[in-house]
Amino acid sequence: MAESKRMAESKRLSGGCLCGAVRYTAVPDKPEMDVCHCGMCRRWSGGVFMSVPCNELDVENETVLGRYASSDWAERLFCKECGSSLFWRMPSDKSGHVAVAFQSFDDTSSFTFVAEIFIDEKPPLYDFAGERPRLTGKEVMERFEAQQESGHE
Ligand SMILES: [Zn+2]
Ligand SMILES: [Zn+2]
Repeated sequence: MAESKRMAESKRLSGGCLCGAVRYTAVPDKPEMDVCHCGMCRRWSGGVFMSVPCNELDVENETVLGRYASSDWAERLFCKECGSSLFWRMPSDKSGHVAVAFQSFDDTSSFTFVAEIFIDEKPPLYDFAGERPRLTGKEVMERFEAQQESGHE
């Protein structure tokens, strides 16, 4: 893969669920975290889904992973023992890309908070401080489609 050299430059990080039944390592694309305010992520995570775009996910004990197809194109993976929300991915995407729950990493100190998405679905009673891009669901989908059309696979 053409991307493997770039991936090798990122550091592999470890994490796991609340009870420890699921342990994993993954390589962040960049040391960056973003937040999704969409209704599905809020219900699934019990808060907002803070995630880190990663590749090369390696799960130690896959049998403990529960899987929920939250749409026709995405699935959410969680610990069957303790219920921790862990991974979001598109099964049709063979690039190995997975959004890993920021809060599940053992060490979150290296990440910066770079974006908020589906800001139009955020309940009005909370806001995150600081300045960063805040995209609506429509803007996220437009960017995603542009990426697909540019040959990103
Ligand atoms: Zn667990
Ligand atoms: Zn979401």
